[in-house]
Amino acid sequence: MWNSKPIIMVVSGPSGSGKSTVIKEFLQQTPAFGLSISHTTRKKREGEVEGKDYYYLSKEEFQRMIDNSDFVEWAKIYDNFYGTSRQEVQRILESGLNVLLEINVDGLISAKKIFDDLVSVFIIPESMEELVRRLKERNTENEEDLKKRIAEVKREISFINFYDYVIINKKNNLSEAVATISHIFQAEKIKTRRFLNIKESFFGGFEWQE
Ligand code: 5GP
Repeated sequence: MWNSKPIIMVVSGPSGSGKSTVIKEFLQQTPAFGLSISHTTRKKREGEVEGKDYYYLSKEEFQRMIDNSDFVEWAKIYDNFYGTSRQEVQRILESGLNVLLEINVDGLISAKKIFDDLVSVFIIPESMEELVRRLKERNTENEEDLKKRIAEVKREISFINFYDYVIINKKNNLSEAVATISHIFQAEKIKTRRFLNIKESFFGGFEWQE
């Protein structure tokens, strides 16, 4: 039996990088991955669904989970809290799937301390101009929020060297970005160290007959 260790993949990227769309498409094509649904204190946006996009909770409830050590990692982003629960990661691993964490740079730094052999991917648009254009086009943020998000982009990019891979998400080329993340998965899963018991799997009960 050929067995391998599950992959924990972190995908980050500034807001406006298109990362959620890339992830959504990748997951649709790759049933071997389960998406970890985070907990957050931010308000539900129109169209979002509890338990699908996030688990929404109050600051008090979130604090209680921190106190109970329920999180693998958590971070405060724009006055809201976001966290990955141990239970969520466990649930995905127990169903035999690889885990995809869509978390920010602070989350990656924390997760690296917990999971060895983490695979990390940073998604960016072609340029800052393009990113600002996308943020404005989205029009979900007011001027003040937009400024905050731009400052956050600068901070996030300063962490780029902590990531294994960078995907440049080109305009009108979603399929290329999705194919790239898929290639990363294909290469990562055949790394020698991911296999458990290669020799036993290969030789099995084989005995040499002279
Ligand atoms: P949004 O509010 O736009 O859904 O997400 C804002 C940011 O929070 C994104 O960069 C997203 O990747 C990040 N994020 C979402 N869930 C988590 C989490 O559980 N942990 C951390 N550290 N970041 C998260």
